Amino acid sequence: MAACPHKGGETGGQMRLAETVTFGGGGLNRAHDRRGPDRPGADDRVLPLWKGKVATLAEAGDRHRLLRVAPDDPALALAVEWVFLGLADDGTALWAADISPWAPPAEATGSPAGFFDAAAVRHHGLPGAALVELRWAMTRLTAHDAELAATARALLGWHQTHRFCACCGAPSAAAKSGWQRDCAACGAHHFPRTDPVVIMLITDGEEVLLGRSPGWPPGMYSLLAGFVEPGETVEGAVRREVWEEAGVRVAEVSYLASQPWPFPASLMLGCRGRAASRTIRLDPAELEDALWVSRARLLTILAGQDSAILPPRQGAIAGFLLHNWLADRLD
Ligand SMILES: [Zn+2]
Repeated sequence: MAACPHKGGETGGQMRLAETVTFGGGGLNRAHDRRGPDRPGADDRVLPLWKGKVATLAEAGDRHRLLRVAPDDPALALAVEWVFLGLADDGTALWAADISPWAPPAEATGSPAGFFDAAAVRHHGLPGAALVELRWAMTRLTAHDAELAATARALLGWHQTHRFCACCGAPSAAAKSGWQRDCAACGAHHFPRTDPVVIMLITDGEEVLLGRSPGWPPGMYSLLAGFVEPGETVEGAVRREVWEEAGVRVAEVSYLASQPWPFPASLMLGCRGRAASRTIRLDPAELEDALWVSRARLLTILAGQDSAILPPRQGAIAGFLLHNWLADRLD
């Protein structure tokens, strides 16, 4: 095994460079023992989020960083939820606040062809900052800021969609600095969800299986993916999804790398599987097309020079796995 420039030494079976994926390896100190207060203290700092968008400041080149404001900043006056994220390197406690009730004077509109609203929204109370979609910002932030943003977006999104007790239906309330919701009516505690999704690099020798779902932008293909079902292993989910969607049998399955994907609450489990059959039989409800792609063609695709297939989206684990497969860095 070659020396790993990032980690050094053995990685216990996980692929080298696994934590270089977007949203990976941020190293955030989550300071579990500091969870408790409902609100930040005066010396803490707060990341405002508005309708899932994060507030960023432009830096040199194409880099951005998350805006941090004081807890008494007037821009936070409308905040409806507060969550404690962890500690910055200098020990400052970092929180996120959901300011979604704020109404922009004239909201910008996004590109209708895109997967997400790429428009930046300006907030008069946050001078110099832009509220942007995290899928746009994620590749422009440091690993630490990306982890903060992913955690904030996932947690605040959970609060937004889990206002009522799943046991008795009464309204629930945030507790433990946003890491829990409690029901006063029946005493139940509820915890933030993370939904596991398998995404798999299925190979047959020197070819990899790509597919596209109905409704995707023209030319977009990716690795096959699907939610892990209750009672199922990661390996079982890989084999079932590939069989259901493409009619291909999968033999050995191994884990490669993971990626938090807070859109809204997924954890992508990047796996590799060796195909045990080649014939593709599409489930048209799940896939519009699937095909085997050679290494040579993948190189052309990733260079943006294929006439039919676009390169994968920046920051998504599919592109990360495909790049590393081409470069023989999956072991
Ligand atoms: Zn209840």
